Amino acid sequence: MEGKESEADFDRTAAYLSQTLEYAREDEDIHIISTKLSGLFRFGLLEKVTMGEPLTKAEAEEYERGKARVGRICKAAFESGIGIHIDAEHSWIQGAVDEIAWEMSRQYNKGIPTVINAVQLYRKDRLQFLQDSLQHARDNGYLCAVKLVRGAYMEKERERARAMDYPSPIHESLEETHRAYNEGLQFCIGHIGEVYVCNATHNEESCRLQTELMEARGLEPGHPMVATAQLYGMSDNLSYNMAEAGFNVEKYLPYGPVREVLPYLIRRTQENTSVEGQMSRELNLIRKELQRRRG
Ligand SMILES: Cc1cc2nc3c(=O)[nH]c(=O)nc-3n(C[C@H](O)[C@H](O)[C@H](O)COP(=O)(O)OP(=O)(O)OC[C@H]3O[C@@H](n4cnc5c(N)ncnc54)[C@H](O)[C@@H]3O)c2cc1C
Repeated sequence: MEGKESEADFDRTAAYLSQTLEYAREDEDIHIISTKLSGLFRFGLLEKVTMGEPLTKAEAEEYERGKARVGRICKAAFESGIGIHIDAEHSWIQGAVDEIAWEMSRQYNKGIPTVINAVQLYRKDRLQFLQDSLQHARDNGYLCAVKLVRGAYMEKERERARAMDYPSPIHESLEETHRAYNEGLQFCIGHIGEVYVCNATHNEESCRLQTELMEARGLEPGHPMVATAQLYGMSDNLSYNMAEAGFNVEKYLPYGPVREVLPYLIRRTQENTSVEGQMSRELNLIRKELQRRRG
């Protein structure tokens, strides 16, 4: 669920999350669930908080109600030993998302990764944010749990920056994003133990880098503080091979009524049809394999 607007919607999202938790509790293969805070808060409110604008009394109460909903879900996740990913979204609401994620992490990441905040390395300021996240965790005595992603809202970010005439928060080139991602992964694996990291990517090089960094630090593949994640139906070649080699692998499964998951699916098709994107990667592998079998 994302981009919801009414209290009834937020209650429904929270109820769905509770049901997902129930389901996860009964299935030993599901140990993490995922959420987008724009499904639990009004977008405009998250934006106002991010921009540091003062809230009216009614808005402040609305914000507290939203935080209470998130708090109940995180508490239930913690008590069931299930993790909860908080997805990263648009930069103009992310300040509020991060603030809530930190607050929940402080309460529930007691040596285990219950609340896992996503960090988008296509943003120019996120390596600093990673360092700040670790510092906040140290200062408050909790485990810093992060999911690294490159980021899924590049076009929208750039368009808004152009339209509103401020510098784009996104790296100017793919190479710079790759470089930041590698540094982010290096930082996390370098601080493993104080940090839990989920390497959420379809990029083969990023998976290779994870294995190399872990080996260099003498971490066994199944180290409980490192995981990799791919979307269900995508990059099985990475997920299956990593799992086979003993790494912790998660498959991210979006579900729901088609109308609700449409924006999500559209973002995936945009990725899949780009030249550098996933589909061409996977099609190339299939073509290669066909050729090999034909001899
Ligand atoms: C398990 C999982 C969870 C995810 N959760 C989130 C989430 O919470 N929030 C979120 O935003 N995304 C999320 N994503 C999506 C993710 O951010 C990427 O869009 C997607 O995975 C493709 O990235 P990749 O690492 O496979 O990189 P690649 O396919 O190697 O690179 C593509 C990515 O690089 C960046 N990029 C491309 N062109 C340029 C350019 N010209 N300049 C600068 N940067 C560029 C973009 O971020 C693009 O998505 C998730 C992905 C996975 C697999």
